Amino acid sequence: MKCPNCNTELRKVEVEIEDIKTPAISFQCPGCDYYSFEPESTMEIINELKEKETPLKIKQKIIKLSQDRLGMYFNKDIIKSLKLESGKEILVSVPEKNKIILQVV
Ligand SMILES: [Zn+2]
Repeated sequence: MKCPNCNTELRKVEVEIEDIKTPAISFQCPGCDYYSFEPESTMEIINELKEKETPLKIKQKIIKLSQDRLGMYFNKDIIKSLKLESGKEILVSVPEKNKIILQVV
């Protein structure tokens, strides 16, 4: 691969990113400031970053409120991070059979 600016042979350099297993492969020109990243390794890094982004996940039990009503509690971490309070409205949607999304409105 040659530099599009000065036609010098590009140098392949592996760039290590903190906390990421996949090194970023970049091509750097020794002649000028040109450099580019290999698209495949860039995609892998993006995927790895996405996997790391684990959202707050808490296991909770469904409780029986009355004859035909079930409910659950929100613990204080969720209350604090979403600023929930009694009387506030939330939208409930079921995108998949095993998923419930609660959206604070
Ligand atoms: Zn160059």
